[in-house]
Amino acid sequence: MSKERIEKLRKDLEKYNYDYHVKDQPSISDFEYDQLFNELLQLEADHPEYFDPLSLTQKVGGEVLDSFVKVEHPYPMYSLGNAFSLADLEVFDKRIKAVFPETTYDVELKIDGLAISLEYEEGRFVRALTRGNGTVGEDVSHNIKVIDSIPLRLNKSVDLIVRGEVFMPHPSFVKVNKKRAEEGLVLFANCRNAASGTIRQLDSKIVASRGLDGFWYTIINPESHGLKTQSEALEYLNSLGFKTNKENKVYSDMDDVYQRIIEIDTFRHELPYDTDGVVVKVNDFASQERLGFTVRVPKFAIAYKFKAEEVETKVLDIFLTVGRTGKITPNAKLEPVEISGSVVSYATLHNFDYIEGKDIRIGDFVQVRKAGEIIPEIVKVNLEKRGAESVRYQPTSICPVCHDPLMKFENEVDSYCVNVSCPAKTIESLIHYASRVAMDIDTLGEKRIEQLHHHKLIETIKDIYLLEDRKEELYELEKMGEKSVEKLLNAIEKSKEQSLDRFIFGLGIRHVGSKTSTVLANHFKSIDSLSKASYEDLLKIDEIGGIIAESIVSFFGVDDNLQLLNDLKELGVNPSYEDEVVGDGFKDMRFVLTGTLTSLKRNDAKQIIESLGGNVVGSVSSKTNVVVYGAEAGSKLTKAQELGITTWTEEQFLEEVNKHEE
Ligand code: NAD
Repeated sequence: MSKERIEKLRKDLEKYNYDYHVKDQPSISDFEYDQLFNELLQLEADHPEYFDPLSLTQKVGGEVLDSFVKVEHPYPMYSLGNAFSLADLEVFDKRIKAVFPETTYDVELKIDGLAISLEYEEGRFVRALTRGNGTVGEDVSHNIKVIDSIPLRLNKSVDLIVRGEVFMPHPSFVKVNKKRAEEGLVLFANCRNAASGTIRQLDSKIVASRGLDGFWYTIINPESHGLKTQSEALEYLNSLGFKTNKENKVYSDMDDVYQRIIEIDTFRHELPYDTDGVVVKVNDFASQERLGFTVRVPKFAIAYKFKAEEVETKVLDIFLTVGRTGKITPNAKLEPVEISGSVVSYATLHNFDYIEGKDIRIGDFVQVRKAGEIIPEIVKVNLEKRGAESVRYQPTSICPVCHDPLMKFENEVDSYCVNVSCPAKTIESLIHYASRVAMDIDTLGEKRIEQLHHHKLIETIKDIYLLEDRKEELYELEKMGEKSVEKLLNAIEKSKEQSLDRFIFGLGIRHVGSKTSTVLANHFKSIDSLSKASYEDLLKIDEIGGIIAESIVSFFGVDDNLQLLNDLKELGVNPSYEDEVVGDGFKDMRFVLTGTLTSLKRNDAKQIIESLGGNVVGSVSSKTNVVVYGAEAGSKLTKAQELGITTWTEEQFLEEVNKHEE
C-alpha cells in the first residue's frame, strides 16, 4: 500500500511540478501541493527501502528550458524546508538549539516570485541566472538588466554573487492581466506565475514593459565581505545599491518568532506584492556553515507557509460577462464576505466546464479564496449544506448582450461572441481600436470614448469616422472647445492612413496580437485579401497555427464584421502597407539565433533577417539554413554542428548582412 501511495505521489507531484515550473499554470494550490509533498517526505522517511534518487524530494524542483543558454551555478541554489505550525517551528528550533543553544534567528518575509542569482565582477553586473534545477540555471541576463530596481553598477567595486527574488508587484499584475484579457490570452494565475512567465520571455522589451521588481537577501561567501550575520548582510546589500526588504527582525526565542509571524499575517495583505510565508534563518554565518545543507534545502533555515485564507459564503446568482475579445466569463454573485482584508462579492467561474467540474449551483455554500491574493475564486462546494433550493446552472449558447450565437473553438474551454459590433464589446473594442498600440488616434483615449459613447455619438468603430458630421453635438460636450474638436477630428482623419498591421490589430481579432498582425500585414498586404484567406492559406504562414487561423476565419465569417470593413472603406479608411523588405538576400532562408548576442538585440537581428526575406525559427532541424550564435551558445549550436548546418558568429552575420544591404 505504502509503495503504491509513494509511487502515485511521485507521479502526481511531477505533473504538478511541471505545470507550475514549466507551464507557469499551476493545477493545484500551493497548500495542497505542500501537503502532498510532505506526505511523500514522511512516507520516504518511514520506508527507506523505496528510496529513489529521482524522487522530487531529492532535488530542487525546477526545470531548465532549452530556449535559454544553460549555465552551471558556481554554488548550488537550494529550496527551503517547510513549516505550517508552531509545532513544526519548535521541532526546527530544538534541532538548531541542540547544537547552538544561543542562536538567534533572522526572520524575513518570504517573497512569492522566482529565485534569481546575480553575479557581479568589480562591482559590475555580469550575469543573471534562474535557479533552474538548482545546479544548472538559465541565463536570463538580458531580461534582468531591464528591471529598473536592479543595479548594473554597485556602489563598491566588489566581486559578488547575490540571490533574491524577482516578483511582479500587484499594480503591474493587474495591468498585465488586463492587457492579456484584451488580447484574448490566458490570464496569469497569480503574481508568481506572471513573474516567472515574464522572465522566461525571449524579448526583453516585453519584460521591460511588465513592471517587475526584486528583493535581494542572500550573499554567497558572506565572510569574504567581512559579514558575520544575515541581518548585517541585508544592510550591506542595501549599501551596495540593492533593494532589500525592510521587514526583517532578529529574535532568539521561537515564541517571539511565532508572534512576529502572526503579526506579519495581519499586515501582509496590504503590501503591494505577494508573500507566501516567512523565512526563519539562523542569523550567524559561522553556525549556518556548520549546519550545512541536505541535497535539497539548507538545514539552517525554514519557510513558514501561510495558508491562503478561505471563507464560506453563499452563491446568490451566476451571471455572464462579455470581454472585449468576446470571451464569455461566468461569474458568481456572492453574499459579501471579508477575505484577506477586503470585501468580496463576486468570484470568477472561468468557464462553463469549471462550473460543471466543481458542480457549483446557485444557492450553494462555497469556500472562497483569493487566488494569488488578488482574484477571488471558489475552491469547493460545501455539499453538506446543499439544500433543495440549489439550482443547477444551464450554460447558454447565445451571447447575453447581442444574442448572436456563441462560438466554441476546438480544444478550448471558453465560449466567445465573435460579433465585433456586439454592444458589450463595443466600448472596450473602441478603446482598443483607438489606443496608442493600435490605430493611435490622438486625444481619443479611454475617458473621451466613454464620454462619446455615453452621449451616443459613437457606438461602433464606424461612428468614429462619422464624427466630422456631428461637430455641433461635439461642441456641446464638456471640455470640448473648438480647438479640442479640431484636434480630435484631425487625429481621426490621420488614422485613415494608419498602417495595415495596426489596423488589423485594432480590429481585436482573438489571438491576433500586434506581432501576429505584423505577420499578417506582411503576408497579405491588404485587408481585403486577409479577409478572403482560407484556413489552409493561413496555416501556410510559419508563425500562424491552427488556433489563430481558426479565429481569423471565424472573424471574417461574421456578416457584421464584413459590413464594418466595407463601411470603413467607404468612409476613406485605407490602411497602408509599406513593404519593409529592403532586399531578398536571405529569401526563404531559415535562421536560428542562439546564445547572447552583444552588438545587437535578438529582436533587432530578427528584424534584419526578415527585412532581407528570411525567417527566424526557434529550434534547429535539418530545414535550418543558418545558426547565428553568440556567447555561451548551448545545445542548439551543438545540434547545428552535428547536422552540418552553416553557423555564423555575430560578426560573420553582420558581414553577410552588409553584403546584402550594399
Ligand atoms: P519555496 O517557494 O517553498 O521556498 C524556497 C524559495 O523561497 C527560495 O528558493 C527563494 O526563492 C524563496 N524566498 C523568498 N523569500 C525568501 C527569503 N527572504 N529568504 C530565502 N528565500 C526566499 O520553494 P521552491 O522550491 O521555490 O518551490 C516549491 C514550492 O512551490 C512548493 O513548496 C509549493 O508551494 C510550490 N509549488 C506549487 C505547485 C503547485 O502545483 N501549486 C507545484 C510545484 C511547486
